[in-house]
Amino acid sequence: MKRITIIGGGHSGLQLGIGLLQKGYDVKVIQDRTADQIANGRVTSSQCQFDASLQHERDLGLHFWQDDCPPVEGIAFAVANPEGPGKAIDWAARLENPGQSIDQRVKIPRWLAEFERLGGKLEIRLADIPLLESEAKSRDLVIVASGKGDISKLFERDAERSLFDAPQRALALTYVHGMTPRDEFSAVNFNLIPGVGEYFVFPALTKSGPCDIMVFEGIPNGPMDCWHDVKTPKDHLAKSQEILRTYLPWEADRCGTVELTDEAGMLAGRFPPTVRKPVGILPSGAKVLGLGDAVCLNDPITGQGANNASKAAMVYLDAILRHGDQPFDEPWMAATFERFWEYAQWVVRWTNMMLLPPPPFVLDIMGSAQGLPDLAGRIANGFDDPRDFFPWFAEPAAATDYLSSLRAA
Ligand SMILES: Cc1cc2nc3c(=O)[nH]c(=O)nc-3n(C[C@H](O)[C@H](O)[C@H](O)COP(=O)(O)OP(=O)(O)OC[C@H]3O[C@@H](n4cnc5c(N)ncnc54)[C@H](O)[C@@H]3O)c2cc1C
Repeated sequence: MKRITIIGGGHSGLQLGIGLLQKGYDVKVIQDRTADQIANGRVTSSQCQFDASLQHERDLGLHFWQDDCPPVEGIAFAVANPEGPGKAIDWAARLENPGQSIDQRVKIPRWLAEFERLGGKLEIRLADIPLLESEAKSRDLVIVASGKGDISKLFERDAERSLFDAPQRALALTYVHGMTPRDEFSAVNFNLIPGVGEYFVFPALTKSGPCDIMVFEGIPNGPMDCWHDVKTPKDHLAKSQEILRTYLPWEADRCGTVELTDEAGMLAGRFPPTVRKPVGILPSGAKVLGLGDAVCLNDPITGQGANNASKAAMVYLDAILRHGDQPFDEPWMAATFERFWEYAQWVVRWTNMMLLPPPPFVLDIMGSAQGLPDLAGRIANGFDDPRDFFPWFAEPAAATDYLSSLRAA
């Protein structure tokens, strides 16, 4: 049976590794942090997943939190009125199937245990180029699923597929207990503050039980790019509440009694969204294949990275199984990523669009959804499969045609 090494025991690496073990492959994961270090470390993501990616996890029996994690039942969208208090746009729609967000500090340690229980070899160490060389010599395939880790830079940036070369948002996460639930149904409450950034919030499961995750996306150098001087967990929570009181009073109203889930339930940082060439060439000439954020890193504004990680892992699993005993050569590696890119290109395009100031026709779509429930439902469910946004969310003529047909109906 083929021997496969995966660098990075995160979302995509472990899902793929476990899928391969279930099919009898010899799998090694090289991971830089132990399960305890992950569980006791900082939060890393808001990791809201929608149905299709959750289904891949259910298919592999990895949905250990199905009954404990509060559901995300819909998407709500509001634009803060730039000219005064209140909302300029305000609508909400239900998802056809609920989403879920499980703190990676809960999920990844459990998946590491499952990986070992199934007979996977887990090595705890920081992989470097010499280690990759030795794995490439002794194994049939090396996959690098190292997320935002430095080793991902061995994959050349794909200038044609990367729209930006600098961070587009100053990001912050605040995990809290005690938030007042929204009325009617639970949702990702997505708020756009023109010229300032975005804030979204939704229920999740963390180490201490159900919680809500606040995600701040500040336009660089704007007023929400404000985390440099925030040093303590207490200050981080206070800054989160101050932003809401200033720009989104309806969200601040839900947060009167919130407290951080734990001292490590917060994060601030930034990175440039980047697509890389999927095949990495080591100094010896040996080839390795990139997976997940290592080669397709999106800004979290549309909440797609963990969804992509799960979908990419499934595409790669299927490609490996179909390839049987044939060698995993460079054409196979490139073709495997291209199969994922057939899907991911739409995610990247939509996510990058959301980082730019919305053109008038997109504002028209988002505003029209307030009076057109079918449109609101389609936008909400597009988070599960962003291919559905094209072409009508990207081209003014297609948007006009689509809106006209909805209004006529
Ligand atoms: C603020 C924020 C909010 C987000 N919110 C969402 C959201 O709501 N929905 C969503 O779908 N996605 C979200 N994401 C993105 C999502 O978390 C990631 O896209 C996803 O975790 C990527 O999975 P991965 O397997 O590629 O990498 P990761 O899950 O990051 O795993 C990489 C692993 O590799 C290890 N590693 C790195 N370098 C090395 C090395 N040299 N040797 C050994 N091990 C190494 C790391 O420690 C890590 O365990 C968010 C991200 C951020 C930053």
